[in-house]
Amino acid sequence: MDIFNMTATQIGQKIQNREISCPEIVNYFFKNNKNKSNSYILFTEEYAYEKAKEIQEKIDKKQILSKLAGAIVSLKDNLCTKDITTTCASKMLLNFSPSYNATVFNKLENAGLILGGKLNMDEFAMGDTGKTSYFGACKNPWDINRTTGGSSSGCASSIASKEAIISLGSDTGGSTRQPSAFCSLTGLKPTYGLVSRYGLVSFAPDFDQIAPITKDAIDCANIMEIISGVDEKDNTTLSSKYLNFIDENFDIKNIKIGVCKNFLDYSKNEISTIVENAIKILENLGAKIQYIDIDIIQYGMPTYQILSSAMATSNMARYDGLTYGFKPKNSTNFDELCINSRTNSFGVEVKKRIVFGNLILQNKDKENSYYKMALNSKKYIKDKILSALNEYNILLTPTTPTEPILLTEDVETDTFLVFANIIGIPAMSIPCGFTKNGLPVGMQLISKHLNDDLLLNTAIYFQKHTDFHLKTAKI
Ligand code: GLN
Repeated sequence: MDIFNMTATQIGQKIQNREISCPEIVNYFFKNNKNKSNSYILFTEEYAYEKAKEIQEKIDKKQILSKLAGAIVSLKDNLCTKDITTTCASKMLLNFSPSYNATVFNKLENAGLILGGKLNMDEFAMGDTGKTSYFGACKNPWDINRTTGGSSSGCASSIASKEAIISLGSDTGGSTRQPSAFCSLTGLKPTYGLVSRYGLVSFAPDFDQIAPITKDAIDCANIMEIISGVDEKDNTTLSSKYLNFIDENFDIKNIKIGVCKNFLDYSKNEISTIVENAIKILENLGAKIQYIDIDIIQYGMPTYQILSSAMATSNMARYDGLTYGFKPKNSTNFDELCINSRTNSFGVEVKKRIVFGNLILQNKDKENSYYKMALNSKKYIKDKILSALNEYNILLTPTTPTEPILLTEDVETDTFLVFANIIGIPAMSIPCGFTKNGLPVGMQLISKHLNDDLLLNTAIYFQKHTDFHLKTAKI
């Protein structure tokens, strides 16, 4: 039984039916995992073997009944795991072992999932290719010369290269939807606050959300069921009580979808043609489709860059070599320690964001400062999108304007993704086709706050009638 060909939900089912046991799953996972795509920073083998026994006992006693109990989960390395290193793919945190677990990890453990390892990523989640990682970029299993996307690059490459089953990453400006699209996977950026951020190493906390990358929408819904909801340790969290992540009676006929025509026009021809074919499928299934224009594309990236870098600058101040982080030898006073620590352990991208963020914050209160302009632009974007969402249940765009780019290229690919983070609304990427060179293409579905279940049910419905998500890379 090849567990890498199964979804987490299917594995959970086999566990419930006693067709396979947790120790067998763990054994298979590590025996057949060669880290082909440089997806893992760390394997948690010893922990996993021990947990497998413990969880199997609980399942046998019917103490754990979650649908995913027994499945192995892989976590992006910016999610804190107690006594297990959490590096954020940075030299700064190479030896950082948190003293506590992220809330999501506690919830996953309580639901009977077993941690398989910590995944590679862009350093401190800053990037969209995985190339800023101290450990080097991941390889895209669909074409190893191309990027997996980022910053949750390991989440996507591990699953696509059949070395992980289900994963959690983080999404600050597209970091789960873009790698999902580039590796033919399903990724959801939940409504801001629906998943606790406690224990997520923060980058830009107004935008950060912990977010699943999975093989299909059913896995995504099942893991959301486990990780969402109020957490007393994160006072921005929201209740998930009224969300029905898997609605057996869901009917796409009631759904009005506004297709963002200018986003299609902005994309490469081949990409928009593929997405338009998927739109026809949705229409044939009964969804009501209308083409609309939302004039926001040019405002997204500058707004995101300014606000996220301003937040990043403040956040990164904690890495001073004393409280946290790399401690260089031979520093004679605190300033020297701090400078040596930061100079020698942050990569170029992180340094760029710190410098840019400081520049932004220097005159942020002046009337015509970049910061104020970004806040105005945020309001403009919010008004435009929310008024469109008053008419349509879902807005649809390609996830990215291009196919996965070459590792040697430098092209902006998260232009369509930052909007959901800027406003805090849910957005999802699902596979919707392949280019003539066999590279995956994704489409993005966006909805109102707390309509995460609507997105998931639409995706589940689409995947019931298509097989794009079932195709796997030959690696
Ligand atoms: N690519 C974006 C950035 O570099 C988004 C990153 C993310 O979502 N973590 O900021």
